[in-house]
Amino acid sequence: WEHVKLVDPEVYEVIVNELKRQEYGLELIASENFVSPAVMEAMGSVLTNKYAEGYPGKRYYGGCEWVDKAEELARERVKQLFKVKYANVQPHSGSQANMAAYLAVAEPGDVLMGMSLSHGGHLTHGANVNFSGKLFKVVQYGVDPETEIIDYDAVRKLALEHKPKIIVAGGSAYSRIIDFKKFREIADEVGAYLIVDMAHFAGLVAAGLYPNPADYAHIVTSTTHKTLRGPRGGLILTNDPELYKQINKWVFPGTQGGPLMHVIAAKAVCFKEALSPGFVEYQKQIVANAKALAEELSRMGLRIVSGGTDTHLMLVDLTPLNVTGKAAEKALEKCGITVNKNTIPNETRSPFVASGIRVGTPAVTTRGMTEAEMKQIARLIYRVLASITDEEGTIPDHVQSEVQMEVKQLCERFPLYVNK
Ligand code: PLP
Repeated sequence: WEHVKLVDPEVYEVIVNELKRQEYGLELIASENFVSPAVMEAMGSVLTNKYAEGYPGKRYYGGCEWVDKAEELARERVKQLFKVKYANVQPHSGSQANMAAYLAVAEPGDVLMGMSLSHGGHLTHGANVNFSGKLFKVVQYGVDPETEIIDYDAVRKLALEHKPKIIVAGGSAYSRIIDFKKFREIADEVGAYLIVDMAHFAGLVAAGLYPNPADYAHIVTSTTHKTLRGPRGGLILTNDPELYKQINKWVFPGTQGGPLMHVIAAKAVCFKEALSPGFVEYQKQIVANAKALAEELSRMGLRIVSGGTDTHLMLVDLTPLNVTGKAAEKALEKCGITVNKNTIPNETRSPFVASGIRVGTPAVTTRGMTEAEMKQIARLIYRVLASITDEEGTIPDHVQSEVQMEVKQLCERFPLYVNK
């Protein structure tokens, strides 16, 4: 970044320090990943300079022949990846994808049913602080208090009672495979559109390790930057030509202006990477790592919500250690281990304190770590959590320095961008 260094030393310093944080820390936030140098180069390219409102072949600006090609590549590849007929790759983010998808099938004031935030849903699935909660009448479903798995009978009952126009399936902190067939049956019974938000597990779907929601949903939305390991962004898929027209209208001009062509080009690179055989192996390792981490943490006495994981993430209930999510997040961060506090089903604390942490393996798996390292990481996490002495996540100095050292050594064994 020699130009940034010259022009803006303050931003340069930010980039260098963030690189160090990523390179020498253990990234266990379930929604994060590390893109390839190829994806990063495409994002940092001259394509950022181009206005291209509209769609390939039908733009409102001249000079779009090359960016048209980028968008066509992205669309064709993502259709091949998820075996669908139509794709819109322009949403700037997962939230924007959801907004356009909802408006493509419903009017403000209609009923939207989604999983509540506290049970693992996303803000855009109807939270009252989000556009989804403001624009629609929201009905929220959750997990069964005993099994901590989606209660499909309760979903059906709620749907029959409230007759939603949209049912959203998918989540941000749900570690089990979702039964899309059941959701579609419920949607058909009440005349609702089923929208699956596969943002978290899109990479697993691409690799065939999770059922393909496109086989059941009217519309599928996703982010591109989580398990899929692409640039930050969103996408929308469908097999229905009429819905596709509506989706396109609601992305542009409905909710967005000019598409981010540099990001769309980076999405194309990401989809190409995801179509390669190595990607399947990567996704398999993500799941194997999550299982190994969950098993080791529960062997040591922590409780894994719903008893385990089928995916890349798990929710860890810290109640057995009498530690809060807030204290755990802070203590782990001091040692170079990044997780996020998370509410658990039947939560008794506020979301700012929470009783659990969400842990995911996509990023550490990108570094090349496998089951042996997951066991080591579980031991490190446990050591930190068991040493917490107060609400602020204070731990003894020697624990902090010893864990910090081990984290750094582990990261040096699995280099990310530096010394690779
Ligand atoms: N949908 C789900 C399930 C998510 O987990 C997220 C992000 O965490 C989003 C949508 C929103 O994506 P973005 O942050 O790109 O708006």
